Order: sequence, then C-alpha cells, then structure tokens
Amino acid sequence: RRPSRNPTALSIDTTDTGFGRAKKALGQHFLHERGIIDRIVHAIDPRPGQRIVEIGPGQGALTFPLLRAHGALTVIEFDRDLIAPLTAAAAPLGELEIVHRDVLKVDFGELAGSGGTLRLVGNLPYNISSPILFHALDHADAIVDMHFMLQKEVVDRMAAGPGSKVYGRLSVMLQAWCDVTPLFTVAPGAFRPPPKVDSAVVRLVPKARTQVPIDDPLRFAAVVRAAFGQRRKTLRNALGALLDADAIAAAGIDPGQRAEQLEVADFIALSKAPADA
Ligand code: SAM
Repeated sequence: RRPSRNPTALSIDTTDTGFGRAKKALGQHFLHERGIIDRIVHAIDPRPGQRIVEIGPGQGALTFPLLRAHGALTVIEFDRDLIAPLTAAAAPLGELEIVHRDVLKVDFGELAGSGGTLRLVGNLPYNISSPILFHALDHADAIVDMHFMLQKEVVDRMAAGPGSKVYGRLSVMLQAWCDVTPLFTVAPGAFRPPPKVDSAVVRLVPKARTQVPIDDPLRFAAVVRAAFGQRRKTLRNALGALLDADAIAAAGIDPGQRAEQLEVADFIALSKAPADA
C-alpha cells in the first residue's frame, strides 16, 4: 500500500483520462469537490479487514481515495466505457475488483460470500436510488452499513417521522430495518455536470435481525405500501383489502387515523394483526 499524500489527485480530469462524457441516462454526475470527497471518505472510515463495495464508481472520485486508504475495493459499474479507464487508473493504487453489472441484479449476499459481510458506499444514480435502497434492504443481513449520496429530498424522506409532510413508505421501510443518520448536504456545484437538486450524504446501519420485531417481512411491506398508497384515506379505507377495521383496532390502532400519523412500531403491529380479528 502506498502512503496517501494527495488522496484525490487522480480523481478527475475528464479531458485527458479517457473517461469520456457524462451519460444522463445513467444518472452520471461526477463529484469533483475535494472537500466533499474527503468528508465522505472520513465518514466511511475504512478499517483493515473490511470488505468495501462501491456502487457506481464513475470516474473514480470516491474509488481512488478509498483504494489508497484501504488497499482493496470492489466496485459495481454498469457503464462499459468506464471499465478500462478505471482499471488503468486504479492499477498503481491497490486491488480493484470491478463487477460490470446492473447493481439491481447483483446479489449482495453472494458478493459477501458465505457468512461474510460488506460495507456499501456510493454516490448513487438518482434515477434508480429508491430501487437500490430497497434492493439493499433485501440483503441487509450481509451489509454492515451503507454510506450513500442521494438527492437531499430523498434523504429527508428517509429520515422523516410521523406528522412530517415527507413521511412515507420510504421512511417507514428504511427506519424499520436500519438506523438512519443524515450526515451533510452537498450543493449542485460539487458535481460535473451539476444536478438540478441539492444532494445529501446519509449513513444507514442495518439493525440486528433480533432487534427488528417483524415476523413476516413481505406482509409488513404490503401493509406499509397499502397504507401510504392512499395516504389521504383513513387506515380503515386504505387497508381494506388486507385488514378490516376490527383487525386494525385489535392491533391497538385507531382505524380512523391516517398512515402519516403512525409510528414505525404501529406498522409492525398492523403487520402482525390476524386478518380476521
Ligand atoms: N461515484 C462517481 C462520483 O461520485 O463521481 C459517480 C457517481 S454517478 C452519480 C452514478 C454512477 O452510477 C455512474 O458511474 C453510473 O454509470 C453508475 N450507474 C448508473 N446506473 C447503474 C446501475 N444500474 N448499476 C451500476 N452502476 C450504475
């Protein structure tokens, strides 16, 4: 491993590195602001022996500093044009394993190996950030933690509580399975090309399975989806197909309430309620 003198020196000069132009369809906005890159790497704080997997390395803004700091890294990148320049630029820095695939088709459990775990990081493509989050939740057992850059509005939704206008399905699903900590906001000028929205970095730490009192994850997901599917309706009406008013009341919840008024624990109670109470 080489000493890290200037961790981001290799990050990006798109004009002469062979990386080419940003592709809008792949949500490509490349981070270039050194201070932000350093803050993200500092927040990740890689430790020896950990398996770190980056989603969407792009032109290497996070990849190269992480590789210098950690010596080895796995990246998942869908854009074939980025594979060769990433490989070339990473060679002197450490061991870079490149998985050239759609991240939504990557089985994180398989990647972690039997009994293994990994840490996920990435400045995510915003157009598919929610599917990536739900995909990661499906493999939460294999994931130690996640550090993601997302649209700030998505991070706000992830961290919102009952009564907030942005509290919804994403908040409940994420908070049921993970501790959610928003870290800091990033302005559009930190990227090339700049996105139209503010961004934010968030830390997600999956809870131990024994600490999540959900018996049936699919039923829980269905209840949350139905409740927020018609968020202006009362639970009695929104959940009609899954639970009747008596079953909702038997779970200790007022069927006249709306989804946005319930705590995460209330949704868990609803997911455990027998449908024919
Ligand atoms: N990490 C780089 C940075 O911070 O500058 C790039 C971030 S850019 C917002 C998102 C990256 O995700 C791009 O490199 C893009 O090609 C990649 N990407 C987009 N869709 C993907 C997918 N389905 N699977 C894997 N990577 C994807």
